Amino acid sequence: MHASTRFAREAGVDVIVQAAFGNKDWFGRVDVLRKIAKPSRLGDWSYEVFDCKLAHETKAATILQLSLYSELVGAAQGALPDAMYVVPPGETFEPERYRTLDYAAYYRYVKSRLEAVIGANGAATETYPEPTPHCDICRWQRECDKERRGDDHLSLVAGINKLQRKQLGIWETTTVAGLAAYPLPIPHRPVYGSRESYVRVREQARVQVAGRESGTPVHEVLEMTDGHGLSLLPEPSPGDVFFDLEGDPFVGLSGREYLFGVALPDGSYEYRWGLTADQERDAFVWFVDLVMARRAEHPAMHVYHYAPYEPSALKRLMGRYGVREDEIDAVARTVDIKKTKKTAEVHPTAVFVDKTGPSSEEQADALYRLGDWTLFEGVNAPGPYRAARDLLLRIPPRLADGTTVVSAYGEDTKSSFACVLRDTSHAARQIGLRQRSTGQRSQVR
Ligand code: SF4
Repeated sequence: MHASTRFAREAGVDVIVQAAFGNKDWFGRVDVLRKIAKPSRLGDWSYEVFDCKLAHETKAATILQLSLYSELVGAAQGALPDAMYVVPPGETFEPERYRTLDYAAYYRYVKSRLEAVIGANGAATETYPEPTPHCDICRWQRECDKERRGDDHLSLVAGINKLQRKQLGIWETTTVAGLAAYPLPIPHRPVYGSRESYVRVREQARVQVAGRESGTPVHEVLEMTDGHGLSLLPEPSPGDVFFDLEGDPFVGLSGREYLFGVALPDGSYEYRWGLTADQERDAFVWFVDLVMARRAEHPAMHVYHYAPYEPSALKRLMGRYGVREDEIDAVARTVDIKKTKKTAEVHPTAVFVDKTGPSSEEQADALYRLGDWTLFEGVNAPGPYRAARDLLLRIPPRLADGTTVVSAYGEDTKSSFACVLRDTSHAARQIGLRQRSTGQRSQVR
């Protein structure tokens, strides 16, 4: 246990924040310890564990985490806490109470299995930092990312999944470079998935390797095939709308869509802020009316967006405010340019790019630079990071000259990306149609 935690605990303070506890194998930093009137080795009091979460629903992993904290606190104070608490986001911050003993048997079972796997009792066990959703917020992200990149690990191939990596391991192919050079046609029948899916990740790896070897971005537009990829996209219409929403799920109990952005084929960009509930409602009504008006004039128009967030958010807003109920079905019938059930993997099967995104190290460096700049220059200073700082502070981002970045935002976001993709796909379709007759393969660098 950390010395300052012991000092605070033995002094009997009512609340201890970020208390550190540990033993030879386990360590935890408890968000909040609260004093209760239950005797322990400390005196007439003891402590219970509270954890503050950003998730609206408490997951099993949280209960396991709290069980570990309660066990460590129980060992330190000589009395297992009766209850443990999760404080969810929202407005009331009313803690959820969980009885410690209700979960103790399951906790002991999971813990003993984990200890057996990782060799916590001294047995050497080899592990590898396989990527998981937790990596995004893990303190070891930088180290693990570095190790994967050093190993040229297969997880760096965009769009590859775990079973494909397992299969490739069986085929003794464990690096991006190895996959890029894998023979085609695929010589073996895979146990997991189809041969085509391995052609796809092999080609993806090849383009990524070409990109890193040439030092310039590389992309290829694939041969056009009716009923697949970009050829599934509808014909362009002058009434098309490219829609992007920015939301914050932690505003109030149900979140807020705080910026509605629409890029139009003529290059213009329109937007509405939804910083308050009234503004959000007005922005929703504005968007639905805009789409209905354009549809009346151009019946073949479509609403394009990138990834499935936008249509579900529109339906949520209709339910929340009880407005535009008759129109919502027509408006929320959209084209997900990335992937929808209707258009069946429009994007990933259509274009290979060599970009797997900045490394976590680069992202962390950018955040550190932003933090340094804010510390040294002050929150009101003009400069290169001002827009990012404004976004972090949840205020409408401004540029150094005081104007908002909304106009720049319109040129730089998913709605515009969708617009570019639609036009690219239309051009590609035309190229594909021409080349199909001459037998050429389209390649753009
Ligand atoms: S970053 Fe964290 S969660 Fe991801 S592999 Fe490494 S240790 Fe595990």
